[in-house]
Amino acid sequence: MDSEPPGLRIKPLFGDGDGDKIPDIELMEVRTLGIFAVWWDKRFEWESRANFILKTLYKVREDCIKNLGMSDPKNVRLGFYLNVYIHDSDLYYSGSTKKDDLFPDKWYAMVKDNRMGLPYMTLPWQDTDGDLVRHEGFHVFQNEWYRKRTKQWHELGWYIEASASWYAADRANQKESVTSYERVHFITANPHLAIWHTEHNKKIGDPNEKELNQRQYALECYLFFLCEVCNVPKNIITDIFKIKDKVNPAEYLFRKIGSQNLREFFTYWAACNTDDFSYLSNVQKKIYRYTKVE
Ligand SMILES: [Zn+2]
Repeated sequence: MDSEPPGLRIKPLFGDGDGDKIPDIELMEVRTLGIFAVWWDKRFEWESRANFILKTLYKVREDCIKNLGMSDPKNVRLGFYLNVYIHDSDLYYSGSTKKDDLFPDKWYAMVKDNRMGLPYMTLPWQDTDGDLVRHEGFHVFQNEWYRKRTKQWHELGWYIEASASWYAADRANQKESVTSYERVHFITANPHLAIWHTEHNKKIGDPNEKELNQRQYALECYLFFLCEVCNVPKNIITDIFKIKDKVNPAEYLFRKIGSQNLREFFTYWAACNTDDFSYLSNVQKKIYRYTKVE
């Protein structure tokens, strides 16, 4: 793996300050490391945040490519840095900052394709911690895999999110508080839903509510339970991203772990969920209780 593939070009497609739809590079700051370029509106002081994001993403890439056998995003093959924009998330924090920036108002944290078909990442000023950066970073290395499978998205969506959150928490260092367990109560709030239920894979007429639409993130606790309590090897969670053929994640787990085992593990997991998520630590649960009362 090249730590910095030679000759990557830098080209932002966002950051229009004067309304001509062309990014205004002179209004932005940028720092690069490895394959990533982090941008922000230069009226704000995000240098140390940018360095933290770059170091975290650098480690994610090293792990994903060297240890997990995943692929670099398309950007690298075509000779471009992967752009990461630190931005003000007005959508979620309306009125809280009163400081607008150069970037679109409706961004939160995501990895999406730009108009050249190349993925970019957005991270909000607010709440960007190692956990969130690793989650989005993992999407970057899942990207080559799932972009070939967009027609299968209804089957894959839950696993893409659950595994990214599982990864983010699994690679946290001991001192970090992991915020990604904050949605686990969506599971007991909706015990009747299929594991693959998501906002984009639901029944006609299902209500459009956060508890239903974000449940897939909470399923990281299912993957955590399989690895930590049932001793499923962690590489089973990530080896799916090396499979070249069509694959359904629910079926993949069923076959890899074994039908007998998985039936037993799933039942055990469901029971422990109703026992106040007894397999999560007090620290993990502290976060979950905190968000529950929001
Ligand atoms: Zn995600």
